[in-house]
Amino acid sequence: MALKARKVVVLGYPGVGKSAVTTQYVEGQVPPGYSVTVAHANYRKTVHVRGQDYDLEILDTAGQYETSNLDPVYGLGVDGYIFVFSINSHASFNTIKTINEKVLNLWGTSTVPVVLVGNKVDLDQQFRQVSPEEAREQSMKWGCPFVECSATKNLNVEVIFDKLIEQIEKSSSAG
Ligand code: GDP
Ligand code: MG
Repeated sequence: MALKARKVVVLGYPGVGKSAVTTQYVEGQVPPGYSVTVAHANYRKTVHVRGQDYDLEILDTAGQYETSNLDPVYGLGVDGYIFVFSINSHASFNTIKTINEKVLNLWGTSTVPVVLVGNKVDLDQQFRQVSPEEAREQSMKWGCPFVECSATKNLNVEVIFDKLIEQIEKSSSAG
């Protein structure tokens, strides 16, 4: 069966765990300590999802602030997005909303294939600033899946990419 090439981009506020999610998925580990992604980094993984093989290219970005302009490169030949916030930072959740608007502007469409991800669920619940209910409500408005994960504990990481591939397939068969 033919290998399908798909490209996805990981967006979100700096420090939410974009690189940790990506490297956990691709390499099965998170490098210890804090390493800042300077510009962006490309990863590749061949994956088998629902009977189909994919050559998945993952662009891990340096991160976006509320006011950042979205690099047009993040729209070129891109099939879908992972929007990451951290459950201990409401500011990072708010930033996702502006990132979504910028992506939609880039695409000129009303929806894009996306998975909303709340990372760092392993943190003590006293640090939680974003409830699953609030995030789920947002994801329902966007018509996208919502996943809570822990990149460092490798909880729910694979499911993010499975769901994104599913979203991409749905949008291409609808389009
Ligand atoms: P990025 O800037 O979004 O790429 O964030 P990084 O992947 O570099 O992670 C920023 C910091 O958060 C690092 O110190 C990571 O070890 C930490 N981190 C990432 N994912 C998790 C997680 O799931 N749980 C916890 N507790 N810390 C995490
Ligand atoms: Mg990074």
